Amino acid sequence: MGLSRAVGRLLGVRSELVPADQAGTDHVAAGTDALVVGGGIAGMSAAIVLAERGVRVTVLERAAQLGGRLASWPETLDDGTVQPVDHGFHAFFRQYYNWRAILRRADPALRMLHPVDGYPVWSARWPTEEFGRLPTTPPLSLLALLLRSPSLRLRELRTMDRQAALQLLAYHPDRTYAELDRRTAADLLDSLRLPDRARAMLFEVFSHSFFNHERDMSAAELVANFHFYFLGNPEGLGFDAPDLDYDTAIWQPLLEQLRRHGGRVVTGDEARTITPRRANGWQVRCASGAAHTARYVVLAVDPPALRTLLTDSPRLAESAPTLADQIDGLGVGPPYAVARLWLGGDVAPDRPVFSGVSRQPTLDSVTLYHRLEQQARRWAQRSRGAVLELHAYACPEQTPAEVLAERMRTELAALWPEVADLPVVRTQARVQAQAPAFAPGAAASRPGVTTDADGLFLAGDGIGTDLPSALMERAAVTGILAANHILRREGAATEPLRTIRRYGLLAHRSGE
Ligand SMILES: Cc1cc2nc3c(=O)[nH]c(=O)nc-3n(C[C@H](O)[C@H](O)[C@H](O)COP(=O)(O)OP(=O)(O)OC[C@H]3O[C@@H](n4cnc5c(N)ncnc54)[C@H](O)[C@@H]3O)c2cc1C
Repeated sequence: MGLSRAVGRLLGVRSELVPADQAGTDHVAAGTDALVVGGGIAGMSAAIVLAERGVRVTVLERAAQLGGRLASWPETLDDGTVQPVDHGFHAFFRQYYNWRAILRRADPALRMLHPVDGYPVWSARWPTEEFGRLPTTPPLSLLALLLRSPSLRLRELRTMDRQAALQLLAYHPDRTYAELDRRTAADLLDSLRLPDRARAMLFEVFSHSFFNHERDMSAAELVANFHFYFLGNPEGLGFDAPDLDYDTAIWQPLLEQLRRHGGRVVTGDEARTITPRRANGWQVRCASGAAHTARYVVLAVDPPALRTLLTDSPRLAESAPTLADQIDGLGVGPPYAVARLWLGGDVAPDRPVFSGVSRQPTLDSVTLYHRLEQQARRWAQRSRGAVLELHAYACPEQTPAEVLAERMRTELAALWPEVADLPVVRTQARVQAQAPAFAPGAAASRPGVTTDADGLFLAGDGIGTDLPSALMERAAVTGILAANHILRREGAATEPLRTIRRYGLLAHRSGE
């Protein structure tokens, strides 16, 4: 064990098991069935856990393929080559214990994941900042950041409001929300009185990764995310990524795992209405006219889809007034843009595989796919080119994808001058709005996994839980929790979960 980890453990920065309910049976009674609407991380996590325990599961997915915001699909280039395109590059952080536990079902040693070296942040004004090579565990990671980071000179730090900064280290699942949820993340960052450079290079890049503008995001959510990704996490800021497209690396193997346990997936059909059945259970009617029935339903769709489903399902709304109210207030984050560029030449050899970008109007990150993913690598070798993916995590409304793609390319050229001279062979640009909003004051009414509809559960990255988690890990955690509620109702043992420390290092744990 490294020094950082040892010190961290001594102070209690370690992962812990959320024990399963062992009281029940291994498997549910024959004939227990469930419908899972949505085949992204949340839906597939729920479906796999349920199927493994003998529940007859059907996953209904609107798109032609599984994966949701982690999907990938083939694109044919003008030269006839077929290239897989991901919905967007994803960092698989090492504290994603539960998402990794689902992935292990298909790949026990997680050979699909490879470390991505470094996590630099670029800016046109200041030198690059490196996050990926810090010691793994707080408080040494924090100390190293304070000592090493050129953005945090001790002299300048004297101006910082230490009281405000301590709130970051005192994350508490109830108190943080009671005290900070009504404030904005921008207001919290203002109150720290950080030097501008530290704010831009250390804090803004981080907060942009949650697909919300700081001025529209709850300060409590920002503190929760700091806790999950940095201040309460024993694994560090390093992350891994597959070197194959997500369909090959993740979704096909997980589909096989589901099928091995009798689960079924219907793709290309959208669930339109959900109706309680007279006896018990639910009917889900799809766009094709097909009607599916089951005792249990897990709604694992993205936030805008959840709102549409509830609006179009009046009998569900009638039977679950609390859920209907919660979904009414469930916000959708601003649009995000993803542009894949096939270029007729390469960027400088020392450019990192993944970089964050600070203070450009549009661009938030850049990934060199031709140094990461096998098929992009082959295309680049054959064509002497490069395959880049550019992301903007919170864009202006109503701006076409092509315009955003061109803006991101121009902004990248301001940081990496060689990009300006590389001919663009093909651009694949999209702008979508499917991320949850984390608006100030919204935490109290955020829907959780359980609802007031009997036998109907929610899962997804916009669904609330006390277990520290976000993004992909939140999707997996809520999916497993939804499955656990069903298993418990059927008298079966539940699935264990693992979490990072639940409280900040400086949080007082009342009631423990
Ligand atoms: C560009 C980008 C980069 C990202 N990078 C990261 C990262 O680096 N690290 C990280 O942890 N997270 C990242 N995320 C976030 C991550 O993708 C999400 O948190 C996660 O995929 C959410 O999973 P989910 O299952 O909750 O929702 P989704 O993936 O949205 O799945 C919902 C599914 O429901 C389906 N659906 C919707 N309506 C219906 C209907 N009526 N009937 C049937 N099916 C329906 C959808 O088609 C979809 O497949 C990123 C997201 C994006 C967009």
